[in-house]
Amino acid sequence: MEKTDILSLSLEEIEKVLVANGEKKFRAKQVFQWLHVKRVFDFDKMTDISVQLRGRLKEIFCINGLFVQKKLESHMDNTVKYLYGLSDGNFVETVLMEYNYGHSICVSTQVGCKMGCRFCASAIAGYVRSLEPSEILMQIYETEKNSGVKVSGIVLMGIGEPLDNYDNVVKFLKLLSDKNGNNMSLRHVSLSTCGIVPRIYDLAELRLGLTLSVSLHSADNIRRSEIMPVNRTYNIEKLLEACRYYIDRTGRRITFEYAVIDGVNSSEADADKLASLLRGMNCHVNLIPVNKVKERNYHTARSGVVEFAKLLDKCGINATVRRTLGSDIEAACGQLRRDAAEQNRNEKGGADR
Ligand code: SAH
Repeated sequence: MEKTDILSLSLEEIEKVLVANGEKKFRAKQVFQWLHVKRVFDFDKMTDISVQLRGRLKEIFCINGLFVQKKLESHMDNTVKYLYGLSDGNFVETVLMEYNYGHSICVSTQVGCKMGCRFCASAIAGYVRSLEPSEILMQIYETEKNSGVKVSGIVLMGIGEPLDNYDNVVKFLKLLSDKNGNNMSLRHVSLSTCGIVPRIYDLAELRLGLTLSVSLHSADNIRRSEIMPVNRTYNIEKLLEACRYYIDRTGRRITFEYAVIDGVNSSEADADKLASLLRGMNCHVNLIPVNKVKERNYHTARSGVVEFAKLLDKCGINATVRRTLGSDIEAACGQLRRDAAEQNRNEKGGADR
C-alpha cells in the first residue's frame, strides 16, 4: 500500500484516516502539532504517542521531506538561496530575504513552469510537475530550521505558476494558516500570478486575505503576448476585469508587477498606456529592474526603472521600485534549478528531455 503524505493533509483529513484505521480521533491533533508546531518530522520522536501507535503511523503515513542540495549566501545583503532536492530527484529553489522589518521567503510552487514568459529563467528550464502542499510548506519549515530565522512574510514568487497548481496551493495556504498548526496570518502572504483569469475568480471567492500580485509587464496586448504567451488566452481586458472583481469581492488592493525592460516596455507611451489602464483602481505598481538571464539579452539600468517610475508619477500613478536582492548569487527564480537540470542532463548524456 502506498503511504499517505501526512504533511499535505489537513487536521480533519488526518482524523479521518486515523478513525478509519481504528485509532482515536484526538490523536490526530497531537500528531498535527508535532509536525506543524514542534516541527518534528520523525514519528519515533513523537514522545507522547505510544510506541504502538507510532508504529501504525509509520505504516500508514510518510513524511515528505526535502534536503538542502545547495545553499548560496549573498555577501551583499544577507539573501540566502536554497536549492532543495525533492524525494523524486527534482529540485526547486527558495530564497530567504532580509528586510528592515523582518525576513521574507520566496517559495516555488512547481518544478519548472509551463507559462513560457520570455524573460524568465524558469521557463527556459521547462516544466516537470506541480508541487504537493507538503513540498511548498517544507520549503518554509526547512529554511527556518536551516537558517534559525522565523519568517514574517511569504511570497509565492519562486519557480512555477501558483494558479496553475491551484488546489495544492490553496491547500498549502490552509495548512500554513491553520490555528492548530503553524497559525500564520495570510495577510503576510503574497501570491503572484501571470494572469490565469478563471483561477483569479475562484481565489476571490475564498477571500483568504492574502495579497494578489499580478505580473503585468506591459499594458499593450501585442507586446504582452510576445513576452507572456498567457496573454494570448487571457488578454489584458479579461485580466483587468478579473482583477476588478477580485478587489470588489475581497476589499484588498492588488499589486501589479512590472519588470522594466529597455526597448520593450519602458517608453513614455508605455507609461501613458499603463496609467490609463490602472487609473482609479485600488492597486499598486511594483517596478522591477529585469534580471539578466543568460539565454536572453533583456536588460535595464536601474536609472531606467527610476525614470519609468517618474513617468508614471506624472500620470498620477504611484509606483515603487523593488530592491534588487542577492544579485551576486543569481537570486532570480529559476536560475539555479536550470543549472542543476542542465548538469543532470549532461551527466546522463542528455537522456532526459
Ligand atoms: N508565475 C508567477 C510567479 C513566479 S515569477 C508569476 O508570473 O507571477 C515571480 C515574478 O518575477 C513575476 O512577476 C515574474 O514576471 C518576475 N520575473 C520573472 N523573470 C524575471 C526577470 N528575469 N526579471 C525580472 N522579473 C522577472
